[in-house]
Amino acid sequence: MAFVFSSYSTYSVANNGDIILLNSFAGSAAKIDKKQAPEIMKLIQGGMRDRENKTCDVLIKHGFFIDESIDERKLVKKILDFERTNAGANLTIMPHENCNFRCTYCYEDFARNKMTNEVVSEIKNYVKNNIAQWPYFSTSWFGGEPLLALDVVDELSREFISQSERQAIEYSSGITTNGFFLTKTVGKKLLDLEIDSFQITLDGPSKIHNQQRPLISGRETYDKVYRNILELAGIDSEFSVVIRVNFTKQSTQDVDLWLKRLSKDFTGDKRFSVSFHPIWSVCQSSNNSSELYSIEDSEQSVYELMKRTKELGFSLKHHTNALAPHGNVCYASMPNEFVIGSDGSVYKCTVALNDRRNKLGNIINGQFELDNELKNQWEEVEELQQCQTCWYQASCQSRCCPLATINNNGFPPCPANKDGIIEIYNTEISSND
Ligand code: SF4
Ligand code: SF4
Repeated sequence: MAFVFSSYSTYSVANNGDIILLNSFAGSAAKIDKKQAPEIMKLIQGGMRDRENKTCDVLIKHGFFIDESIDERKLVKKILDFERTNAGANLTIMPHENCNFRCTYCYEDFARNKMTNEVVSEIKNYVKNNIAQWPYFSTSWFGGEPLLALDVVDELSREFISQSERQAIEYSSGITTNGFFLTKTVGKKLLDLEIDSFQITLDGPSKIHNQQRPLISGRETYDKVYRNILELAGIDSEFSVVIRVNFTKQSTQDVDLWLKRLSKDFTGDKRFSVSFHPIWSVCQSSNNSSELYSIEDSEQSVYELMKRTKELGFSLKHHTNALAPHGNVCYASMPNEFVIGSDGSVYKCTVALNDRRNKLGNIINGQFELDNELKNQWEEVEELQQCQTCWYQASCQSRCCPLATINNNGFPPCPANKDGIIEIYNTEISSND
């Protein structure tokens, strides 16, 4: 039986001659020592006649090479389509659409407030009416600031936990919060409500954070948020925290000292990771645009920051997850994933809340009443020639940002991390040797 280099595999030769191999369908990554590089290059170019030796066996086992008689693209597409259409349900719920912060780069208009009791009842009924068809059920709490309506989070979570137990299906939940109200008591309460994945934003050193993320009154927020994260770390329980850092060119200049402080407090704790996000000039007309990144020049800065956090002992797992199948697929393209606003509106994307193409309908009488034509626009893509031969296709599936695809007349953008994922693995694998 002969094997060829999988069309979902790619490789790169590092500066020292080692080879990094990646495969987006198997989610595999490997570093090959430079001594073996000529042998591996020969296999990549010419294939292998059989499981010729132990190396060949390992490369096949991890999906880098595939039986040449298999129509790989057809098989993988079938599997990924099945997984996508049969995935469990995820509801992103906005219990409050206002916020106690006024971040300088925020895109929300705060036109709506706390979720009404009627919408809370509608959501409970919707879950009751549909949960039996779902293989699993998850929720993401989002806003505005979701902890402004902790009572709604509490009431709905209890209902979801009880419904899931009754149906014997798995339930999980996470929250995106500015962290201001996340005291130790609130943290424990959220964990009791099975909310065990947190994304909290801290925009670097206190001076920068306080400029970018003030309260409505203009008051500073850094000390309180940092203290709350430290208190969360003091809870003896299993959970994960991603500290999200939105950065500009100016904020990266002073970031080293701050990262050292962060690493002193959190690197021994595997529950914590850091994730960097450039604030792009295309989105920000009011900010000082000379400090903002263009989409093109931001990625290199992300890798530099990631390397620094890795050197300080943080895990890059949050970034390396992108290599797995579906790893770059946006939830807005998933048939069972919806965003529910505080007024009962049903959306696909959490960014374009005022875009009429994003509002699919409403929740009425315990069911979604949706415009299916609009829904399909978010979920279906016409696969372009470039995607049909792309090694990253299993991770992206031409669905990394359906909003951008719609805006671009059906042409999907490639994920921003496509070119850099090899660099990320180079750092991750080298540091784990
Ligand atoms: S569709 Fe695009 S903008 Fe909207 S949530 Fe997905 S990735 Fe973000
Ligand atoms: S959009 Fe880009 S990364 Fe995604 S499958 Fe197509 S070519 Fe590959």
